[in-house]
Amino acid sequence: MAPDMAPPVTAPPVTGEVPRETPREAPRDLAALHGTEQTRTYPCNSCGAELHFDIKLQKLACAHCGAVHDLSVDLTQSAVEQDLRTALEALQNGRLHGQRSISAEHKEIVCQNCGGRSTFSGSLTAERCPYCATPIQRDDVHNAPDRLAVDGVVPFQIDAKSATSVIDEWINSRRFAPTEFKTYNRTGSFSSVYTAYFTYDADTEATYTGRRGDDYTVTVGSGDDERTETRTNWFPVSGVVTNSFDDITVFANDGFDRARVAKLEPWPTQTAKSYSPEFVAGHLCRTYDNDVEQCMGEATTKMEAEIDQTIRRDIGGDHQDVDSRSIDWRKMTYKHLLLPIWLLTVIYQDKPFQVYINGVTGEVQGARPWSKVKIIAAAVIILVVIIVLIVLLKSRKS
Ligand SMILES: [Zn+2]
Ligand SMILES: [Zn+2]
Repeated sequence: MAPDMAPPVTAPPVTGEVPRETPREAPRDLAALHGTEQTRTYPCNSCGAELHFDIKLQKLACAHCGAVHDLSVDLTQSAVEQDLRTALEALQNGRLHGQRSISAEHKEIVCQNCGGRSTFSGSLTAERCPYCATPIQRDDVHNAPDRLAVDGVVPFQIDAKSATSVIDEWINSRRFAPTEFKTYNRTGSFSSVYTAYFTYDADTEATYTGRRGDDYTVTVGSGDDERTETRTNWFPVSGVVTNSFDDITVFANDGFDRARVAKLEPWPTQTAKSYSPEFVAGHLCRTYDNDVEQCMGEATTKMEAEIDQTIRRDIGGDHQDVDSRSIDWRKMTYKHLLLPIWLLTVIYQDKPFQVYINGVTGEVQGARPWSKVKIIAAAVIILVVIIVLIVLLKSRKS
């Protein structure tokens, strides 16, 4: 399918709240506690426990005995671009291009409440769904299905300790925030989640026809009525412009507040490492909800806007009309990237509220509810103070 025929991308509602269905019953047994769901993807050489990617050390570490293991991947190897047309054909034929996104050792959690899909390796450390804070149940855990391969990952740089202090500072600077935010450790979910992105590169050549308008002024009227007027000379133009696009980034997940996630940008996509499951060991990965074809519309819209700007600059003059435009899309490539987000989800009055931290820069963006109780309490205190002052003033006068 040609990119300019991409299906329209319907943007989810921009709101601080995440749609949520009625809460489920309390779990009977947590997946987190269920032994058979565990695998040993990266066993510790010293004690056999599961290793995780330690953000501070940027190495595999054992939480059980403290041993540290070097990554086996080449850290200088960056993510490789994939041919877009090959991937689109593979998707349309119902087969993916050879590889699996997540190795066979990975499990996928499908939240029955919000539908969010995450993968993890080894033992599951999260007890609640990171997107809606509903307890994860054993039935939610499945083998990870085939998906487009992950090409690159930008590893977390903000560790749990720093993320916690960022989130605490954010909460404490929110006046009238409900107490539920301060007790997120018990009732909410705070997780390190790799979210899914597609980035697009393209070289384009656009042929256009149109009109260029050059302004000139004339003096009209005479005597007191003499004045200058601006008029425009129009003449036909045509031409060819070329553009080169690098890493046009599209967020591939639903169930997030897209406007707020967009504010976490810019992402250092150029620093993405060639994907290895070692980088995501001990962290959750949100599986993409929209594939490389579904995300393409958003990317081509951004590119077409840029191409239009280039055409207008090429026409020059004071005014430009573009009558026709034909884009030849050349050398289109993409990368499926995992980008790191610390995600806090707090339930307040049956609605989940999410706060996001960019796992590289520490930039924080979040939704917050207002606590009616706290606002009313503050109003009552102010009212009482005013009444007391009035009474005092009156008693002085009398
Ligand atoms: Zn160990
Ligand atoms: Zn959920």
